[in-house]
Amino acid sequence: MRRLVGIPPIHGHESPASWLTRAALSQGVEVKELMTYVGLSVKRDPDLTLAGNALWNVANLTGQAVSSFGFAEHMFSGVRSIDPTGEDFLLWTKNGMPRYRYCSLCLHEPGCKHFPLHWRFKAWRWCPIHDCLLGERCPHCRCDLQLPGDMLNAGLKREGVAHLGHCLKCAERLDTGWESTPHPLKEGLVAGWEKAVLENGRALLAAIFHRHFFITGNAKRHSLDSLTRFKKMGVLPQDLLLLSGQSLQVRRNQRKATLRNHPGFYEGRSARERS
Ligand SMILES: [Zn+2]
Ligand SMILES: [Zn+2]
Repeated sequence: MRRLVGIPPIHGHESPASWLTRAALSQGVEVKELMTYVGLSVKRDPDLTLAGNALWNVANLTGQAVSSFGFAEHMFSGVRSIDPTGEDFLLWTKNGMPRYRYCSLCLHEPGCKHFPLHWRFKAWRWCPIHDCLLGERCPHCRCDLQLPGDMLNAGLKREGVAHLGHCLKCAERLDTGWESTPHPLKEGLVAGWEKAVLENGRALLAAIFHRHFFITGNAKRHSLDSLTRFKKMGVLPQDLLLLSGQSLQVRRNQRKATLRNHPGFYEGRSARERS
């Protein structure tokens, strides 16, 4: 088989599904065509299946170094070791297709738009770079964000999109409203336990990366497979947090109203917080 030329490299933390979506556009084909050409089943989740011989074959045919997929392979093999189908830890649409969240501020930043693999995890609700909750759906058409997808024929009129900062269903920008995104920690919109849960999303990915984890206040080292026990107990960050972008907006408005009606209300509190 002929090796493809002009395929863009995968970014360090990019998900395989995001990379395949961009790679297909670089060849001017639909993603299903590219996946079939490189020997990937279009019915299976490439985030979970791009490993071993399949990965070697894909890297060879697309002119990429196998090592450039190292982070994705390490993270998803960690997921497979505790959750073979990805049902417990990854996001899915109602039809069982791979689903993603997104950070509108990450997508607003200059540079090549892509979906890091963290955005696929149920527990990763909050972007630590921008201190904001991730978006669940397209802000325009309210569709789930499903990857891999077609950029070539994206949009209602199949007009296509140039980069992944656009919704593949309606072709509108996903970063719409980025400037009014609430920053829960900086603005003090969350309770202490909610902050801990938000930060535990990152801790869960760190556990998958390191294959072990610790619990605050306890020196015992837990192996990665103990996460399944915590999952059964319903204490993983993904099972605890009910916050939404909308609820943060409501809290922000309530706070503004309180400040307007009772100037100085928060002053005593900030002084206590500072001490
Ligand atoms: Zn971000
Ligand atoms: Zn849309």
